[in-house]
Amino acid sequence: MADEVMPLGVFASVGAGLGAGIEKVVGLGVTTVQTHAPDPAGRTEANAKAIAAQFADAGVAVSLIFCGYPGESYESIEIVKDTVGLVPPATRADRVEQTKGIADFAGWLGAPGIGVHVGFISEDHDSPDFAAVVDVLGDVADHCAGLGLTMNLETGQETADTLLAVLQKVDRPNLGVNFDPANMILYGSGEPLAALRKVGAYLKSCHCKDATWSAQPGVTWGLETPLGAGDVGIDKFVATLKELGYTGPLTIEREISGAQQIADIQAGLQLLTDIKQQLGI
Ligand code: MG
Repeated sequence: MADEVMPLGVFASVGAGLGAGIEKVVGLGVTTVQTHAPDPAGRTEANAKAIAAQFADAGVAVSLIFCGYPGESYESIEIVKDTVGLVPPATRADRVEQTKGIADFAGWLGAPGIGVHVGFISEDHDSPDFAAVVDVLGDVADHCAGLGLTMNLETGQETADTLLAVLQKVDRPNLGVNFDPANMILYGSGEPLAALRKVGAYLKSCHCKDATWSAQPGVTWGLETPLGAGDVGIDKFVATLKELGYTGPLTIEREISGAQQIADIQAGLQLLTDIKQQLGI
């Protein structure tokens, strides 16, 4: 399992109903997961060890713990700008501390890194807002480095050029990218495969997610679709990952709930299995 190139995975949640979450994962036959961090009260060493043991018993490796913060809303692109991640100034300091706490949790759990939605980083690279985000990312990345963890920035809320500028400015070897091709489309922030190539040197993990473009990119959301039904071109996405030398997990993210979510994930796993076979992975 550990030696498998691009092992298949899913994005799971351990926040609400851990047992059910793990049963779902076991039923899907995957060997890796990314999970959301539990709510603040659940970010204890004892809980981390308990979750680690349950996943280990199921033969599933946790490849990333994703950060989320109370008060975030994905209701619209404008609301995301005001509420999500480390960008909004009013909540920044508190969320930096929460992020360090999530990193501690990931360390206890034995995950190799954390994933972060930074928020809408300013496209003005000379602005105070841009500089402030660079500062906090350096601070959190150093905390992660002290724990032996990577810090993987989710893509999509800014252009690849701005993400690249941030990565170069912060300049920490453990800071990289969790590339989500669908987010580039959903937020209207750029053609995903060109963006992947642009930040490819910083690629640490990815989401396999698909979407169709909005009629008004950047103003209204695009539409998330089952894997293979959107505009990403998942076969080309995986081929580009291979070309870049990526060997980490292919983690399917399907942001709906219920039986359809599981059905779509199962179809997505089959699609990725077929693509890997075609590409000789
Ligand atoms: Mg994602």
